[in-house]
Amino acid sequence: EDSTLPSALTEKYTLTRVLGKGACGEVRLAFAKGSCEKFACKIISKKKFSVGGKSQLNLASQVMGEVKILKSLKHPCIIKIEDVIDTPDTLYILLELVEGGELFDKVVSIDKYDEKTGKLLFYQMASAIKYLHDEGITHRDLKPENILLASDDLETLIKVTDFGLSKFVDAGSMMKTFCGTPTYLAPEILKSAGTGAYTKAIDCWSLGVILFIMLSGYPPFSDERTDMELPKQIVGGHFSFPKQYWKDVSDTAIDLIKKMMVIDPKKRITFAEILNHPWLKDEEMKAKANA
Ligand code: ADP
Ligand code: MG
Repeated sequence: EDSTLPSALTEKYTLTRVLGKGACGEVRLAFAKGSCEKFACKIISKKKFSVGGKSQLNLASQVMGEVKILKSLKHPCIIKIEDVIDTPDTLYILLELVEGGELFDKVVSIDKYDEKTGKLLFYQMASAIKYLHDEGITHRDLKPENILLASDDLETLIKVTDFGLSKFVDAGSMMKTFCGTPTYLAPEILKSAGTGAYTKAIDCWSLGVILFIMLSGYPPFSDERTDMELPKQIVGGHFSFPKQYWKDVSDTAIDLIKKMMVIDPKKRITFAEILNHPWLKDEEMKAKANA
């Protein structure tokens, strides 16, 4: 057992292997002592939280307020927060465990999704984000690393994770973490240079990029295809659907992607409208999706 872990945690849980890593820290497999029930434990150093020079103490209470809200969320496609252990330096968030890995790794391994399977997964993501938006929460960091799969099957349930807390991470440092790969970043964030002048419509853009990748197997913006820098491509909306890669994809699917990736956030489709888009009119698929 790791002796650096606080007793408030080790009294209740045993932590084992690392399940994943991200900007916030690591996520480890946890077993509840007694029941041996399995969870994922997200370990967040409070030093990560800083916004506009506010004191750590102020933020800590705001973060806990937000965690309380996140804990009350209930949707089949949103990762459930089961328990929270708060210590002076570190926050331990015990999450519902998902064992099928990240959508990111799946797309890489299968090359791309056929439209029928892609639709099933996308519908679940869209209904999860609509639920978050209805609850007043913007995800802010939608990417295939934050979409988890319930199983290794192609047709599987999905769970959206890693939402809500990114607003406590300085917009400047958010931008920096994105700077390596702004693949999923909405143009208005790049234009505002991290000053925070954007709305929940950023999630729609990011999910549009995810759908583009799922159905084609490649990202809409890339440094490899032109000399134009990535941020410039994004802000200018320089993406297209070349027939050679998109011949098997329906016009209806492409229409939805185009409506999600509209540069002006005010003109972008909303999640309520996405769920009513002709591409998602498929009752058999919805019955499977469980969302
Ligand atoms: P970060 O904010 O650091 O990106 P995440 O919450 O996205 O943290 O978690 C990082 C990675 O850990 C995820 O991409 C995923 O691989 C893994 N992970 C996170 N939550 C779970 C979970 N509930 N079950 C299984 N793996 C998880
Ligand atoms: Mg993440």
